[in-house]
Amino acid sequence: MNCIYCGSATEVTNSRPQKRANQVWRRRHCKYCGATFTTAEAPDYSRSVTFQGHSGALEPFSREKLFLSIYEACRHQKHATEAATALTDTVITKLLPYLRDATIQRSEVVLITQRILAHYDHFVAATYTAHHATTQK
Ligand SMILES: [Zn+2]
Repeated sequence: MNCIYCGSATEVTNSRPQKRANQVWRRRHCKYCGATFTTAEAPDYSRSVTFQGHSGALEPFSREKLFLSIYEACRHQKHATEAATALTDTVITKLLPYLRDATIQRSEVVLITQRILAHYDHFVAATYTAHHATTQK
Protein backbone atom coordinates (compact mmCIF):
# COMPACT_ATOMS: atom_id res chain seq x y z
CA MET A 1 0.00 0.00 0.00
CA ASN A 2 1.28 3.47 -0.90
CA CYS A 3 1.71 6.37 1.53
CA ILE A 4 -1.49 8.43 1.93
CA TYR A 5 0.60 11.64 2.04
CA CYS A 6 3.22 11.26 -0.71
CA GLY A 7 2.26 8.10 -2.63
CA SER A 8 5.57 6.26 -2.02
CA ALA A 9 5.86 2.61 -0.99
CA THR A 10 5.31 1.79 2.71
CA GLU A 11 6.29 -1.01 5.05
CA VAL A 12 4.26 -2.62 7.85
CA THR A 13 5.78 -1.86 11.26
CA ASN A 14 3.08 -3.38 13.49
CA SER A 15 0.01 -5.60 13.07
CA ARG A 16 -2.83 -6.13 15.52
CA PRO A 17 -5.85 -8.45 15.12
CA GLN A 18 -9.15 -6.98 16.39
CA LYS A 19 -10.87 -10.22 17.26
CA ARG A 20 -14.30 -8.86 18.17
CA ALA A 21 -14.64 -6.81 14.99
CA ASN A 22 -12.88 -9.48 12.87
CA GLN A 23 -10.38 -6.95 11.55
CA VAL A 24 -6.62 -6.61 11.33
CA TRP A 25 -5.05 -3.22 11.93
CA ARG A 26 -1.62 -2.46 10.51
CA ARG A 27 0.72 0.43 11.22
CA ARG A 28 2.54 1.47 8.05
CA HIS A 29 5.64 3.58 7.72
CA CYS A 30 6.70 5.55 4.65
CA LYS A 31 10.44 5.38 4.02
CA TYR A 32 10.31 8.42 1.76
CA CYS A 33 8.47 11.06 3.87
CA GLY A 34 8.59 9.33 7.26
CA ALA A 35 4.82 9.41 7.79
CA THR A 36 3.05 6.69 9.76
CA PHE A 37 -0.60 5.72 9.29
CA THR A 38 -2.98 2.85 10.06
CA THR A 39 -4.82 0.55 7.69
CA ALA A 40 -7.57 -1.94 8.53
CA GLU A 41 -8.36 -5.18 6.76
CA ALA A 42 -11.97 -6.30 7.19
CA PRO A 43 -14.34 -8.67 5.38
CA ASP A 44 -16.16 -7.02 2.47
CA TYR A 45 -19.70 -8.08 3.34
CA SER A 46 -21.28 -6.27 0.38
CA ARG A 47 -19.32 -8.56 -1.99
CA SER A 48 -19.76 -11.68 0.16
CA VAL A 49 -23.30 -11.60 1.59
CA THR A 50 -26.69 -11.09 -0.09
CA PHE A 51 -29.55 -9.41 1.79
CA GLN A 52 -33.15 -10.42 1.08
CA GLY A 53 -35.67 -7.69 1.85
CA HIS A 54 -39.32 -8.29 2.77
CA SER A 55 -40.37 -7.85 -0.88
CA GLY A 56 -38.07 -10.78 -1.68
CA ALA A 57 -35.67 -8.61 -3.65
CA LEU A 58 -31.97 -9.45 -3.29
CA GLU A 59 -29.27 -6.85 -2.82
CA PRO A 60 -25.71 -6.78 -1.48
CA PHE A 61 -25.66 -6.73 2.32
CA SER A 62 -24.84 -3.19 3.45
CA ARG A 63 -22.97 -2.67 6.70
CA GLU A 64 -23.65 1.06 6.21
CA LYS A 65 -27.44 0.58 6.12
CA LEU A 66 -27.33 -1.61 9.23
CA PHE A 67 -25.13 0.99 10.96
CA LEU A 68 -27.56 3.81 10.05
CA SER A 69 -30.58 1.88 11.34
CA ILE A 70 -28.79 1.33 14.66
CA TYR A 71 -27.44 4.88 14.74
CA GLU A 72 -30.95 6.28 14.23
CA ALA A 73 -32.11 4.32 17.29
CA CYS A 74 -29.32 5.59 19.55
CA ARG A 75 -28.70 9.08 18.12
CA HIS A 76 -30.01 10.68 21.34
CA GLN A 77 -27.06 9.17 23.23
CA LYS A 78 -23.88 11.03 24.06
CA HIS A 79 -21.51 8.70 22.16
CA ALA A 80 -23.95 7.53 19.51
CA THR A 81 -21.40 7.02 16.72
CA GLU A 82 -19.08 4.87 18.84
CA ALA A 83 -22.00 2.91 20.32
CA ALA A 84 -23.59 2.30 16.91
CA THR A 85 -20.23 1.20 15.45
CA ALA A 86 -19.66 -1.35 18.23
CA LEU A 87 -23.30 -2.55 18.13
CA THR A 88 -23.10 -2.96 14.33
CA ASP A 89 -19.98 -5.15 14.70
CA THR A 90 -21.74 -7.26 17.33
CA VAL A 91 -24.88 -7.69 15.19
CA ILE A 92 -22.82 -8.76 12.15
CA THR A 93 -20.90 -11.31 14.24
CA LYS A 94 -24.21 -12.76 15.49
CA LEU A 95 -25.75 -12.72 11.99
CA LEU A 96 -23.08 -14.80 10.27
CA PRO A 97 -24.27 -18.19 11.64
CA TYR A 98 -27.72 -17.47 10.10
CA LEU A 99 -26.33 -17.24 6.57
CA ARG A 100 -27.71 -19.77 4.12
CA ASP A 101 -26.08 -19.82 0.67
CA ALA A 102 -24.43 -16.52 1.68
CA THR A 103 -27.88 -14.91 2.01
CA ILE A 104 -29.44 -13.28 5.08
CA GLN A 105 -33.14 -12.48 5.46
CA ARG A 106 -34.33 -9.04 6.57
CA SER A 107 -36.44 -10.64 9.34
CA GLU A 108 -33.31 -12.29 10.78
CA VAL A 109 -31.39 -9.01 10.69
CA VAL A 110 -34.23 -7.20 12.51
CA LEU A 111 -34.63 -9.97 15.11
CA ILE A 112 -30.93 -10.20 15.95
CA THR A 113 -30.55 -6.42 16.02
CA GLN A 114 -33.50 -6.19 18.44
CA ARG A 115 -31.88 -8.81 20.71
CA ILE A 116 -28.51 -7.06 20.76
CA LEU A 117 -30.09 -3.65 21.39
CA ALA A 118 -32.28 -5.04 24.19
CA HIS A 119 -29.10 -6.06 26.03
CA TYR A 120 -27.65 -2.61 25.42
CA ASP A 121 -30.46 -0.15 26.24
CA HIS A 122 -34.23 -0.63 26.41
CA PHE A 123 -35.06 2.80 24.98
CA VAL A 124 -32.73 2.24 22.02
CA ALA A 125 -34.27 -1.20 21.43
CA ALA A 126 -37.81 0.24 21.58
CA THR A 127 -36.88 3.01 19.13
CA TYR A 128 -35.36 0.49 16.71
CA THR A 129 -38.40 -1.80 16.97
CA ALA A 130 -40.79 1.12 16.35
CA HIS A 131 -38.96 1.88 13.09
CA HIS A 132 -38.29 -1.62 11.80
CA ALA A 133 -40.42 -4.37 13.28
CA THR A 134 -43.81 -3.01 12.19
CA THR A 135 -43.01 -3.41 8.49
CA GLN A 136 -41.50 -6.85 9.00
CA LYS A 137 -43.13 -9.74 7.12
ZN1 LIG B 1 5.12 9.27 2.35
